[in-house]
Amino acid sequence: MTSPANAPLAQRAPRKLLRRLLPWLASLALLATSACGGAMATGTVSPRISQGITKLNSELAKGDGNSWRSHFIDVGQGLAVLQEFPCGAVLIDVGGEEDDKFQSDAALLRYLDAFFERRSDLKGLDLLLLTHPHVDHTRGVAAVLNNYAVRNLVDNGQGSGSGAPGQLVLQQWARDHGDVRYRAVALADIADNRGLVDPILDPVKCPAIDPQITALWGRVDSDPGWPGMRFGKTPFQNGNNHSVVTRIAFGRASGLFTGDLEEPAIRDLLKRYAGTALLDVDLYQVGHHGAANGTIPELCEAMTPEIAVFSMGPPQWQMTWSAWKYGHPRRQIVEMLAEVMTRKRKPIEVQVGLKSETFEPMTVEAALYGTGWDGTVVVEMMADGRSRVLTAGR
Ligand SMILES: [Zn+2]
Repeated sequence: MTSPANAPLAQRAPRKLLRRLLPWLASLALLATSACGGAMATGTVSPRISQGITKLNSELAKGDGNSWRSHFIDVGQGLAVLQEFPCGAVLIDVGGEEDDKFQSDAALLRYLDAFFERRSDLKGLDLLLLTHPHVDHTRGVAAVLNNYAVRNLVDNGQGSGSGAPGQLVLQQWARDHGDVRYRAVALADIADNRGLVDPILDPVKCPAIDPQITALWGRVDSDPGWPGMRFGKTPFQNGNNHSVVTRIAFGRASGLFTGDLEEPAIRDLLKRYAGTALLDVDLYQVGHHGAANGTIPELCEAMTPEIAVFSMGPPQWQMTWSAWKYGHPRRQIVEMLAEVMTRKRKPIEVQVGLKSETFEPMTVEAALYGTGWDGTVVVEMMADGRSRVLTAGR
């Protein structure tokens, strides 16, 4: 098996060995606990996940390599998008669900191991970017930093929120490693209608087609006076509205990754880039896992995406912090996107949320994909704008 990163093998090997041993240790633990009726979460990945990863990588190995691939990794309820370029790799968020149904850190590491085995020419990640410090976006920070070389780190500079432990690990890692560059992205640093271009945010320089990574939004330092209140918090106090939003362009192909940005901030984003082409993209990471407040019609009209991907858990896992609990993705968001999208997918019958814990079936024909419906989704875009979508399946 090829090494996934350029950290000394001696440092990595025990961790990898431990991970390989984990399923065995887990079975032992299960045997030990089954007598008293308990089974603990163990950090293993299911055969379904493993088979999906193997299938995807054998299909991806056939590509000509001169493309940009966005891997929406199945991490349950959460977000982790691996951006694969001809000469580099960037990871946006490392989140996911950790409960008795699913262990996202194990799934994420299994995916990255397979990725770096296929792309043994890449020596680790050029960039790890956290959109905002919520645990469904930051859970796997330590796991990733401890297992792969990462040369650049970006976050929004905040240090509180449910995902603060992960974000603080990232910030400490930057302080402890002089060869790792770090930058916090604040809205105040972003040029009015051009976005932020920065060598730490965009460290990937490929010779034939150079991907452009631009930040369009970040931490907001003073309250814009956004109206409303939810769960006792103003929109300014809501961490989602401080998400680092990125646009990636690769030749004529482009994508928008909004993290969990919500309606009031999306309206300001639209105002800021009105009259520019920066929000006009082919691929959309559907904001806030398809929540009712993560996408608005004006954004859909500005983007007119060809392909949109929800990153959420499957609706049938009924527990707290799950897609089922939040009702993700909402029916009105699926319909709103389908209205502006001309590209189709093979029709699929899915469950869409009407509200928390309430779903109904719907047939989706527009090119909308979801990790909770399709497993990991890989969108491959060529520089001339052609694209294809591969899914691991569930
Ligand atoms: Zn989230």
